[in-house]
Amino acid sequence: MLYHLKMVESQYDICIIGGGINGAGIARDAAGRGLKVLLVDQGDFAGCTSSASSKMIHGGLRYLEFYDFGLVRKSLAEREVMLKIAPQIVHPMEFCIPHQNAVRPAWMVRIGLFIYDHLWPRKKLPASSMINLKTHKFGKPLGKNIDKGFTYADCWVDDARLVILNLKSAELKGATVKNYTRCTDLTRSGQSWTISLKDMKSGHDDKVSAKVVINATGPYVHEFLKTTNHLMNDTPTLRLVQGSHIVVPKLYDGDHSYLLQLPDKRVIFVFPYGGYTMCGTTETDFSGDPIEASATQSEKSYLCKALNAHFEKQTNPDDIVWSFSGVRPLFEDHETDVRTISRDYRFYQDRRKDGALLLSIFGGKITTYRTLAEEVMEILRNDFPQLRGKWTDQKELPYCPIKLITDSPDEKDIKYFIREEWVREVDDLIWRRTKWGLHLPKDKLEQVKKMTQSLLEKGDRHDAE
Ligand SMILES: Cc1cc2nc3c(=O)[nH]c(=O)nc-3n(C[C@H](O)[C@H](O)[C@H](O)COP(=O)(O)OP(=O)(O)OC[C@H]3O[C@@H](n4cnc5c(N)ncnc54)[C@H](O)[C@@H]3O)c2cc1C
Repeated sequence: MLYHLKMVESQYDICIIGGGINGAGIARDAAGRGLKVLLVDQGDFAGCTSSASSKMIHGGLRYLEFYDFGLVRKSLAEREVMLKIAPQIVHPMEFCIPHQNAVRPAWMVRIGLFIYDHLWPRKKLPASSMINLKTHKFGKPLGKNIDKGFTYADCWVDDARLVILNLKSAELKGATVKNYTRCTDLTRSGQSWTISLKDMKSGHDDKVSAKVVINATGPYVHEFLKTTNHLMNDTPTLRLVQGSHIVVPKLYDGDHSYLLQLPDKRVIFVFPYGGYTMCGTTETDFSGDPIEASATQSEKSYLCKALNAHFEKQTNPDDIVWSFSGVRPLFEDHETDVRTISRDYRFYQDRRKDGALLLSIFGGKITTYRTLAEEVMEILRNDFPQLRGKWTDQKELPYCPIKLITDSPDEKDIKYFIREEWVREVDDLIWRRTKWGLHLPKDKLEQVKKMTQSLLEKGDRHDAE
């Protein structure tokens, strides 16, 4: 026991396990309300689900079909907040729905869009409309058999950067955030937790203490409870569902997107993506390690088939230039059809014998991460009565001073991301802090990779002098 205590070097109010969007949002909110916060991630920030989403800040038009009005309303309200607090990375986007009468009758789509327009007041986004695709510019790249359609608006976000900006903001408010640091064990001693951490780069073990632990490990939420011996009989069950996206050579000009209705009643989205076209997503039950999720051949064929049924230009799985997959951690409510499982979030509070709180998060969306964090703060009021009030809906997220869309990043730019945004591996830089992995010409990308590797080997990092 004495040895144990000696190892406890730092004491925090809350320790957040997981640096995806939910962990990052909670860290920001809590630090801004005066709590002493530690956040750790076993890999890179946004390295898991939070960089593999469809990148929409949206109400979720399709959830109306399952009468999930509460979630749609909450998400539409949040869409307005995100436009206000993150104008640098949240952008309005117009969507076209090519009409397929065989999937849903036009009157049904019109009613859905009417409800979507009116569930929450819009300040910037236009209302939906019906369009003639024979004459409207959105019809140009589509098959000649599609003559009618609809438009509506939602928002698009760079999901990985949203995580980083929340972490930057948390750090500016005093939080300590560490990537490549895994939580390996959790021991409750009365009103406090002892948390075992492993530096995944050096192998160094450490221990810290906190009054509250937040399990924001996304698709690992169950696994984490299991490995730390905190899985209980009443812990909610989890359904892991893989979703894949493909990136293919450009199918159309313009910065609008498409929502395609498929014969199996699913919908998929098609977006412009830095000179390419991105399309997703699938929904397939998943087992295994979420970080290893990758698009299967059948998912690639399914998405190409959907594109080919709508666009003139045909796409083969061989044309795919990049694909990525994420695993949705859905709260299991015994639905058999994955389409109909709610995308809302739930909390599971474990305070055994009135001891310290372990709060686990199930589910959620990028769109609602901020309200999720606010609800967590309300729960924490029991533990920290001095907690300050809500603030994150009013204050903008920080700006990045480096140009992200560029053909010629230099050493100064790379150093910025290493020192200010926690880059520890080349992929952190080229796939998450930026999308240079996709956009840069091959020779320039090779140069950037070499330069980054060399800076990292020289010991350049976030906490370097
Ligand atoms: C295909 C797909 C499309 C989606 N599209 C949208 C969309 O368009 N709009 C939207 O709003 N939402 C969307 N979502 C939902 C959204 O992406 C997720 O709800 C959100 O990213 C989950 O974030 P998270 O922080 O809970 O999990 P994650 O981002 O997975 O973060 C969890 C983190 O915990 C870390 N971790 C795990 N175990 C440990 C440990 N022991 N120690 C330290 N760290 C640990 C992991 O490394 C990981 O980084 C989509 C999801 C998917 C899969």
